[in-house]
Amino acid sequence: MQVEKVAASRLADADFMNLGFGDVFSDHMVTCKFEEGNWSEPKIGPFEPIPMSPASLALHYGQTVFEGLKAFRGTKDGRVRLFRMDKNADRLQDSCERLCIPVLDRRIFIDAITELVKLDQEWAPSNRGEALYVRPIVIATEGHLAVRPSASYMLVIFTSPVCEYFAQSRSRLYLKAEERFTRAAPGGTGYAKTASNYAVTLRPINDSVNQGYDQILWLDGQSHRFVEEAGQMNIFFRLGETVVTPELGGTILPGVTRDSVLTLLKEQGIPCLERRVLMEELVDAEAAGTLQESFGAGTASVVVPIGRINYLGNDICLPEASNDDLCPALYDQILGIQHGELEDRHQWMTTVDG
Ligand SMILES: *Cc1c(COP(=O)(O)O)cnc(C)c1O
Repeated sequence: MQVEKVAASRLADADFMNLGFGDVFSDHMVTCKFEEGNWSEPKIGPFEPIPMSPASLALHYGQTVFEGLKAFRGTKDGRVRLFRMDKNADRLQDSCERLCIPVLDRRIFIDAITELVKLDQEWAPSNRGEALYVRPIVIATEGHLAVRPSASYMLVIFTSPVCEYFAQSRSRLYLKAEERFTRAAPGGTGYAKTASNYAVTLRPINDSVNQGYDQILWLDGQSHRFVEEAGQMNIFFRLGETVVTPELGGTILPGVTRDSVLTLLKEQGIPCLERRVLMEELVDAEAAGTLQESFGAGTASVVVPIGRINYLGNDICLPEASNDDLCPALYDQILGIQHGELEDRHQWMTTVDG
């Protein structure tokens, strides 16, 4: 891969004692162009602004998709490892396909990320829970005003040393079940990681945060009675002895963390169901004392416990944290695998050598 290194690294200026989420960017980025019907070889160069036409189709009609994954520094060996990037490669292809973006070879994507993280591995923080976040985006670059797929695209991949998303507020989340606004509808783009899926959530999230909630609990777009996702996280409930999460059906983002949680729980013999979850079922389970636990799952936040959910003006309250809660155990297992402390039984990690 063609690599142009920065003249001087910015690493010494980065404040690793006070990491936020996504306010510092590492030295280099990958760029890869699609022109005249082909994806070119990716290149690595300095992290810098990208020139683009003011008429770029990405800017006007939102033809842009992204991904998010993390690399972790090993607690014992200091080596840097990427978590399940094959899943992100697959999902990027699905997202591209939904928005008429020419699909990129998985190998090119995986190799480009590996090379980039290897080059900037000094930027991977060393505290447990912190990570080098990898953000790939694909944008339509053609300048044109017709509403049609762009003829040219650019893949950009850059990295950012981050703390955990909810590191500041390690308390349990208070969600507002959103009964007016909709994130995704059947036939829409809910399963794809598109920029537009995020744009439509800004206003409802802002309103909810102003009303004192931490996040929104998205409900289905038709009846607003079925649970879909908790903000940018998939959601889980422990009902009696069974763990339940909404089934993927086109409106829910197939999270890599969601899949990892299901894999780990099933491995421990904990019954898991992927099915529709009715809000009234949660209200009833709370009354019956069978609603044990709820948590969100996503790359940025790993797993985060939920304390309360406001639905139609009333709070559904989860029981106080207890010793046999699954969420803290899952958190330790996932982080343990990511930081190379636990055996990687599922070949989830890719070590970045050199
Ligand atoms: C990215 C994302 C998630 C979490 O997916 P992970 O692969 O676990 O990071 C969940 N919901 C939405 C809407 C997302 O965009």
